[in-house]
Formats: sequence, C-alpha cells, structure tokens
Amino acid sequence: MRRLFCFDFGGTRKFPLLALLLVLQSPSLWAWGDVGHEVVARVAWHFLTPITRQRVEALLAGDTDTLTPHDPISVAVWADRYRDSQENGPKVNYHHTHEWHFVDMDLHHPSLDRACHGHPPLPVGTAASSGPASACVVDKIEQFSAELRALPHAGASPSQLAEARLALKFLIHFVGDLHQPLHAIDDRDRGGNEKRVSTPGAHAGTLHRYWDTTFVERLGPNAQSISEHLIHQITPANLKAWQRGTPRDWAMESFETAKTQGYDALPAPDERGHYRLSATYRDQATARVALQLEQAGVRLAMLLDHSL
Ligand SMILES: [Zn+2]
Repeated sequence: MRRLFCFDFGGTRKFPLLALLLVLQSPSLWAWGDVGHEVVARVAWHFLTPITRQRVEALLAGDTDTLTPHDPISVAVWADRYRDSQENGPKVNYHHTHEWHFVDMDLHHPSLDRACHGHPPLPVGTAASSGPASACVVDKIEQFSAELRALPHAGASPSQLAEARLALKFLIHFVGDLHQPLHAIDDRDRGGNEKRVSTPGAHAGTLHRYWDTTFVERLGPNAQSISEHLIHQITPANLKAWQRGTPRDWAMESFETAKTQGYDALPAPDERGHYRLSATYRDQATARVALQLEQAGVRLAMLLDHSL
C-alpha cells in the first residue's frame, strides 16, 4: 500500500477525492506497503552472494532516475512510484504497468493461466519494460529475470544496461508483490479492496490494506528491525525448502494462503457487511505475513543470484 495518500478510514483525516477515485477504479491497486517491500529487499540482501551484491550495486550506481534513492533497499518501492508518477503524462505509466503488480485468480475457480492471459510471450524484439500492459506479475518476473540472465558481464551496451537496471528494479519489487497473498486472489472485491474489516487494536480498513500494511506493522517498529528479526528466524532447512519451485508455484502458494487464511477464515459479516476480525485471525495473519516476507526475501536472493 502506498503511503502517498495517507488515508485512514477509521480516523478523522480527510480522504482526498483523487485517492478515493483511484481506490474505486483500480483492481488490486496495492501490494505490500513500503515497509513490506523494504523488509523483502533487506532479507534478500542478507542472503545474496558477495558477487551478486557487487553486480546489483554496479547496476544501480548508473541510475539517473529521481523517483527513489539508488540503494538496493530504497529501489524496492520504485515500481510503485513509477506506476504512480506522471512523468510520461497523466496515468500513462499507471495504465502501462499497474496490472504487472498482481495475478488475480478467482477465489472459487482459480486459474493461473487465465489470470496471466495465457502467458503470451513478449513480442520479438520488445524489452520487458516496454511489454504489453496486460501481463501478470508471474510473467513479468520471468521476463525480467531472463533479461538479467542475458546481460553480458562485460561489454554491455548503454541500452542493455538501462534495460537491465529497470529489470532489476521491477524484479526486486515484483517478487515482493507476488508474496502478498491478496495479490493472487479476487472475490469480485478487487482483491479485498471492497471488504471492510476491523480488529482490536487497529483502525478499521479494507481486507487488502490489512494484509498490505496493518499486519506487517504488527511485526515491529520499522523495516530494519522487522527484517533483522525475520532473518534471525530463518534456518538452513527453511532456505532449502523455500528455494524450490518457480514463480508460478509461489503464485499458487500465495493464492492458497489468501483463500484459507484471508477469506475462508473471515467471520460472518455484520449487518453493514463489515467483518470484525478476531484476535485469532489477526495473530494468525500476522504470523503468515512474517513467513511470506521471509520467503519473498529468500526467493528474491535466489533469483538474483541465478540471474546476475
Ligand atoms: Zn506493487
């Protein structure tokens, strides 16, 4: 979830009209908040090999973009900033890239192939960053990984380096998005954006926002302390188990998590259609969010090690 809008349904702050319109129009607009993305990048950085770290830093050192700082942690939110920037005209970047951030499988009839439009290959000669707008996060991860794998270690042209830099920044963000369970499901509620929930100790919000941000913030005061805690918990056996599979498998894991722990675990709605989440739901979701962030970080490190 972007902090950009600073909205707070349960509080007294005004909800800007523009933000409201965007919320109403945009399916699964958000992924992890900034904190979640930064945690994923920090976990990944911990597990990267020294040579991959060097290559990541070398690529980012040539970055002239102004949307985020150019360190490997700050660029984790670049894809959200880019999607929302107006640099190519009003909503141009939004329409071109917003679908790349999720893979909305139907809660009752999930199909990865359908959610990914049949996995069309990129048109010949097209860079992944210029690919069609209709593409799911799984395919974008595969496309950007392939571009990094194809980058020569020496003698790359300026245009190859520029595309590799974009590929790296999209990849760091999208592996996080893929592990936000509500980015892999839809109940005709725009990935939970239309379900109103509340729980003891937190402002009311949407189900999507709760999984983006509210449960993440229960893990610690900031991304650094959360990531240090999570890294400490990850065992060699975890690493071995989580590094199996492909982005397609991880999408199905996210879907199953969203279905069982996000949707099936919901209580009956009240007379207004709102859901009062129990402390048990809240605590189990928070624990699951921790696991998703750990897995995303470990898998991002693996993808970057293999690709660079
Ligand atoms: Zn995103």
